[in-house]
Order: sequence, then structure tokens, then C-alpha cells
Amino acid sequence: MKGLIFDIKEFAVHDGEGIRTTVFLKGCPLRCVWCHNPEGLSPRRELYLKQNGCLNCGLCKNPCNHPECQGLGRCLHICPKNLVSAAGAEWEAKALAEKLLKHKDFFNSMGGGVTLSGGEPLLQADFCVELLTLLKGQVHTSIETSGFASAEIFQKVVTLCDFVYMDIKLADAEQHKKYTGVDNKIILENAAWLKQSGIKHTFRTPLIPGITDAKDNFDAIECLVGNSAWEHLPYNTLAPVKYPSVGRVFTDNQAMGMRALDN
Ligand code: SF4
Ligand code: SF4
Repeated sequence: MKGLIFDIKEFAVHDGEGIRTTVFLKGCPLRCVWCHNPEGLSPRRELYLKQNGCLNCGLCKNPCNHPECQGLGRCLHICPKNLVSAAGAEWEAKALAEKLLKHKDFFNSMGGGVTLSGGEPLLQADFCVELLTLLKGQVHTSIETSGFASAEIFQKVVTLCDFVYMDIKLADAEQHKKYTGVDNKIILENAAWLKQSGIKHTFRTPLIPGITDAKDNFDAIECLVGNSAWEHLPYNTLAPVKYPSVGRVFTDNQAMGMRALDN
């Protein structure tokens, strides 16, 4: 089956053990106010317009006949500054597995592998299952997930992975809803299952000033995590930069970490 991918990053060193290829799956049900991957939020292919260097020549706005440009509102091929692209490309799981396995020997000799990230990979669970099944036993696989999925979907996907990175962003239900847009009940239930599953895993908390880094939150997450590994991820201060490229607004309020404003 096909999956929608918005980036494939080779030689990644921050997405798990060793040197890896990270596959970024498009679409996320959360709307974290600090999200630094706005091009991963929508589950649909969309226009990605780099903001710096535009000549305002208007060439990209002229109608064109390229099938791949239809519906985007711009031509992908005419910009003299190469500023126009699409976020999201369809991949057959088999073709993607073949591409990833070309580096199998390298991954295995260097202790690396493949990481599924996003967006939220569990939003394309069937695609993940097919891809992970094709990779299983050949290359080390990790997943980076918010854990926001039904228990059935969560367990089906993570049991195919060699390692799971799962976020616990905020322990308090109301705070979680306020800053990520969703309730954390299902996330905490999946975290509890993961802890006793025998699957290698690490919980992660992004350090968002004034939101997740409060002592109350840290103490509560420490309790939830128990004996599992737990790491803290630094806030990506470049988060606002990409929002205009996909027609979204990173508001002043978001910049202050006060509340989400999204479409
Ligand atoms: S073609 Fe490129 S430089 Fe010209 S308006 Fe479009 S984005 Fe700007
Ligand atoms: S879970 Fe990740 S991709 Fe989704 S909104 Fe939050 S930070 Fe962005």
C-alpha cells in the first residue's frame, strides 16, 4: 500500500542508535504549540513555498499542465530560485523498503538502522505495518511516536519495531489538551502498556520553556516513567521558521508558549 512521506533523511544521528535513515510520515492528530514540523501536520500533500529570496516575478502562479502541480496552486518547475516544492510524496511500502535496504550492510556494520518519525507515524498504521514487516530481521528499526492512537493500533505497530521512542509531554490532562490539542488518557494507557511489554523503549519529554519544564510536570512524569529510560529534548528555537512555507501561522502567543492557534 501507499504511504505519504514528507522527508527521508539519510545519515541522521539524532533519531536513534548509530547512523540512520529517518522516514517522516505526513499527518499528525496533535497540534503542539511548539511543533517544529508544520509540514508534517496535514495528512495531505501540500504546497511548500520557501519564503526567503522570492523575486515576486509571479511565474509560479501561471497555470501549467504538469499533473504533479495540479491542486497546489503553483507550478513546481518554473521558479528561477527553486523555492516551490510539494510537502508529501506517495511511496509504495515495497519500493520504500527496497530503497532503505540498499544501505542494510552499512546500517548493520555501524549499529544504525531505520527510524519512522513524523508527523505521527501511527496515523498511517497500515503502511507502517507493511513497511516494518518488510524490514523486519534485516535492519534495526525504531519509531518516534506521540503514542496517540488506539491500543490496538499502537501495539500492532510498536511490536514490529526494535526500539520505541515515545513522548510524554505533559502529565496533567487539562494542560495536555491545552498545549497539544488532545487528551492524554490514551497516551498514558499506551505508555503503561509499553513499560511492561518487554519492547526496548525510551520516553521523551520536550523541554518547552514555561510549559513542559515546570517542576510539577517533571515530578509527575518521573512517576509515570518509573524504571524506564527517560530523556529530555531541547526546544527547537527554529520552530516558527517553516510555518509560512505551508501557509500556517506561528502566532505570537505560540511563540510565548501560551496557546495553540491553528487551522
Ligand atoms: S517563481 Fe519563485 S521567485 Fe517567482 S514568484 Fe514564484 S516563488 Fe517567487
Ligand atoms: S506530536 Fe510532534 S509532529 Fe505532532 S504536533 Fe506535536 S510536535 Fe508536531
